[in-house]
Amino acid sequence: MARVYMETLIQRCVTFSQIKQLQSHFLTAGHFQSSFLRSRLLDRCAVSPFGDLSFAVQIFRQIPKPLTNDWNAIIRGFAASSQPSIALTWYRSMLFQASSSSSSSSLCRIDALTCSFTLKACARALSSSFTPQLHAQINRRGLFADALLCTTMLDAYSKNGDLISARKLFDEMPVRDVASWNALIAGLAFGNRAHEALELYKRMESEGIRRNEITVVAALGACSHLGAVKEGEKIHGYVKDSNLDQNVIVCNATIDMYAKCGFVEKAFQVFDQIRGEKSVVTWNTMIMGFAVHGEANRAIEIFEKLEDNSIKPDDVSYLAALTACRHAGLVEYGASMFKNMACNGVEPNMKHYGCVVDLLGRAGRLREAHEIICSMSMVPDPVLWQSLLGASEIHKNIEMAEIASKKLVEMGVNNDGDYVLLSNVYAAQGRWKDVGRVRDDMETKQVKKIPGLSYIEAQGAIHKFYNSDKSHQQWRQIYEKIDEIRFKIREDGYVPQTGLVLHDIGEEEKENALCYHSEKLAVAYGLMVMVDGGEEESPVRVIKNLRICGDCHVVFKHISNVYKREIIVRDRVRFHRFKDGSCSCRDYW
Ligand SMILES: [Zn+2]
Ligand SMILES: [Zn+2]
Repeated sequence: MARVYMETLIQRCVTFSQIKQLQSHFLTAGHFQSSFLRSRLLDRCAVSPFGDLSFAVQIFRQIPKPLTNDWNAIIRGFAASSQPSIALTWYRSMLFQASSSSSSSSLCRIDALTCSFTLKACARALSSSFTPQLHAQINRRGLFADALLCTTMLDAYSKNGDLISARKLFDEMPVRDVASWNALIAGLAFGNRAHEALELYKRMESEGIRRNEITVVAALGACSHLGAVKEGEKIHGYVKDSNLDQNVIVCNATIDMYAKCGFVEKAFQVFDQIRGEKSVVTWNTMIMGFAVHGEANRAIEIFEKLEDNSIKPDDVSYLAALTACRHAGLVEYGASMFKNMACNGVEPNMKHYGCVVDLLGRAGRLREAHEIICSMSMVPDPVLWQSLLGASEIHKNIEMAEIASKKLVEMGVNNDGDYVLLSNVYAAQGRWKDVGRVRDDMETKQVKKIPGLSYIEAQGAIHKFYNSDKSHQQWRQIYEKIDEIRFKIREDGYVPQTGLVLHDIGEEEKENALCYHSEKLAVAYGLMVMVDGGEEESPVRVIKNLRICGDCHVVFKHISNVYKREIIVRDRVRFHRFKDGSCSCRDYW
């Protein structure tokens, strides 16, 4: 009876002082010897929001021979705390204790709960080396049949980015539930394997497994990444049919998907039709959606509505609104918004600085941009110097270009684009000696290049292209199509922007290096297949991982004119909509 009564008392604790009182009562009344009550109290103290983990550790230290549940309470507490990696240290101590105690005493042993809490700590601490060790423990202790535990392990592998192990585990699992599917789909979707995530989602669908809000959020994320709007629409259909559209997180993911796939009106429809409460993320997603489509006025209109809805704009809201200004060249509005941020209690971070420096720089206010960088309380990110360098190139300002590139070299940044920019500034002033010096520097420093990569969704599949890629089944036809395009756009007045290629090679080779850029391959493929596919009225949509280059930008303008076809390119920064020979960005990018 006393035990039941005591247990109820523990459950009724809702403040830390009650826990403390109970603990001292336990000590004096001798209840502390009861391992059951003790571990209950420990658990309450270590895990509940009003508990205190360091006090739990104190209680633990008073136990002469801690048992499994005592250890588990502490590991669980740290796993959920702000320092999850400490849980791993406790697990190691427990493992040592368990293996050194005699085999007859099974009072401290690693059980399914220990593994589960430690795996949760691995997932949160992003400790990739620890998960395989636990995996081995789980196998050794015959716990593999525990479906819940396996899913926790799968989640740990996924969150740590070890997607090969996650996939293998998933395939080997005797029983899978929706959480196991979700863990892998989310891991793939947010781990740069969006393609596989969508395939798995489709398999789930064909196997008739019910997908919940977590599944669709991950799958919509994969569609956003790939620009796969047709798949995205199907998922949106499922969302509506299964009433998941009442969930604000699902709505946010749907808005983001449509916006990132280039359908900002559809994104707005979803935004507008939300019946329940919108979260600040909902608003931010919509502002950013309009911003990257160059619809600055609509972005700002929504930003200003935030306050009418008594929602305080956060750092992301400001970033989205500044991005809108940046893409539309709204210099005054953007600069004053940046100044007001801190007064509204939002400290600017690196990304805000990046926006405002870019905004001022592009408008030719290089000195102001430079002053802002110099006034920062944190160390400026190389990206800021890169924007200043880019702006110096546009405005042909050698002095600023040199300041910025010197900083970049000091910071050890070896990006080929930066060298190209600096060299362009010199070239524009006819300083060929300096152009040559930059070129030499590039060679001696072995400048790094991030491979360009583009996607296109066509004929029911997603096609991926690298620069000068010859891995596509139809690569020969694609290259022929590019030859045809080159011929036709030259008649339209196109001149290759070979100044963008900084190699010691002939003009013709330079032109070749440009014409097989990943985005050109993707557009050529789109033009090639979407005519026969009955999709001739729809625009060619391409997603690129880097910023679109100047030559591709010019080429697509000509293509849109010659082929009477709209081309939409989402690059790392924004959307470009090419139509009748011009781009929606008005060359402001
Ligand atoms: Zn290009
Ligand atoms: Zn453009």
